[in-house]
Amino acid sequence: MKYISTRGHAANEQFCDILLGGLAPDGGLYLPEVYPQVSATELAAWRHLSYAELAFAVLSKYCTDILPEELAPLVSSTYSPQAFAHVRAGQWIEDITPLTKLGVEKGAPLSLLSLSNGPTLAFKDMAMQLLGQLFEYVLKRRGQRLNILGATSGDTGSAAEYAMRGKKGINVFMLSPKGKMSAFQTAQMFSLMDDNIFNIAIEGVFDDCQDIVKAVSNDHAFKAAHSIGTVNSINWARVIAQVVYYFKGYFAATKSNDEKVSFTVPSGNFGNVCAGHIARQMGLPIHKLVVATNENNVLDEFFKTGVYRVRTSENTHHTSSPSMDISKASNFERFIFDLMGRDAVKTAALFKQVEQEGFFDISATPEFVSIEEKYGFVSGRSTHKQRLQAIREVFKDYKQIIDPHTADGVYVAFQYLEKGMPMVVLETAQAAKFEQTIHEALNLPTPRPDAYVDIEKRPQRFESMTANVDLVKAYINKNVNP
Ligand SMILES: *Cc1c(COP(=O)(O)O)cnc(C)c1O
Repeated sequence: MKYISTRGHAANEQFCDILLGGLAPDGGLYLPEVYPQVSATELAAWRHLSYAELAFAVLSKYCTDILPEELAPLVSSTYSPQAFAHVRAGQWIEDITPLTKLGVEKGAPLSLLSLSNGPTLAFKDMAMQLLGQLFEYVLKRRGQRLNILGATSGDTGSAAEYAMRGKKGINVFMLSPKGKMSAFQTAQMFSLMDDNIFNIAIEGVFDDCQDIVKAVSNDHAFKAAHSIGTVNSINWARVIAQVVYYFKGYFAATKSNDEKVSFTVPSGNFGNVCAGHIARQMGLPIHKLVVATNENNVLDEFFKTGVYRVRTSENTHHTSSPSMDISKASNFERFIFDLMGRDAVKTAALFKQVEQEGFFDISATPEFVSIEEKYGFVSGRSTHKQRLQAIREVFKDYKQIIDPHTADGVYVAFQYLEKGMPMVVLETAQAAKFEQTIHEALNLPTPRPDAYVDIEKRPQRFESMTANVDLVKAYINKNVNP
């Protein structure tokens, strides 16, 4: 399987060549030359696989430069009960991504696919845990080391740290805005005592952290000298790891492969739902892919109007579904490339226009008009009030406490229910991570999984710093993985 860039670069690269990098050299995103297809025979056999076996089947089609006997143990140690088994409603559940059937709404069977049973209680673990295994494997194979530098406002940083802790050849430097994360999120990250994890609390806001990461990454000499890398959502391995649970969700929601299923996906950077698009392109019988945004409705605006308009940081809202507070959707270019008939020249022109003018408008093109019919995409947005309302309704009707991001999904899913068509909403985090919003909605405390009770009381280890690039560089220099 060869990989190409959405902006035309093609250099005969395979999976392991693009795994550790970020953007392609021309500024585009990597995609496979063609999407591998899943035959009817394969789909029939896949229905009966365990999660780890299914992940192996999907990933084998993309990681063709890793021997099957090497890939299999990486995948099975990632998707193991040790990492993902959990207790829900007093029951021990070993299923990696169980489907919870809620009920029938407007004639449509409605269910939640729980993706948040990993160590940090958010769906990012599903991909990041695999990334940890793959990085360690490829670094060893190449005799290389890696220093991961990132900025986080909460979920991504902790998912990365829990995936990379104790991994050989990898150090993690994670910048977060001091005092701006929830006590739970802060404790989750800062209580890690592993030698290869470095938490840096920056006196500033998230944008200050991100600016420092950008400045360090733009210092090419420093970056090369210290093998600086990232684990952000454009990483191709993260996207394909997420493809797996669309298959899993489809099988769990249907009895036979003649049926179709719609998915609603709480979206920010278009990473999660991009995986749904890819599953559909591989031949999974997906009906609609419903993109649910919060007040930061960059994607909803695009699917409704054909205008993709990125926001400035002043125009990016801080909401009660914070992991979807984005100013641009960094994976979106992958879909636009497919939409434009995989024309790299057109794709490059559109995203150059975004860089220069802040938007593109394809409303008048036949491609835009064909989106729903050809790709199944529709969209909606939810606000704070609607999010709280969804949390209350799901609690009242089904006795489940859903988190604010999943609530955005449920609210928008209700607009796209069709009689007889199963609707699966992806549950992207556990409510325990967002106690304040749950309290506002239900006036109830949120029960926590046992392992997280009193997490705030554990000892914490972190370094405080003013928002200064040189200080961060000096710190990395001192603690770098040589
Ligand atoms: C990251 C995140 C999202 C958004 O996912 P994208 O891949 O960026 O679209 C939604 N919900 C939660 C809880 C998240 O952590």
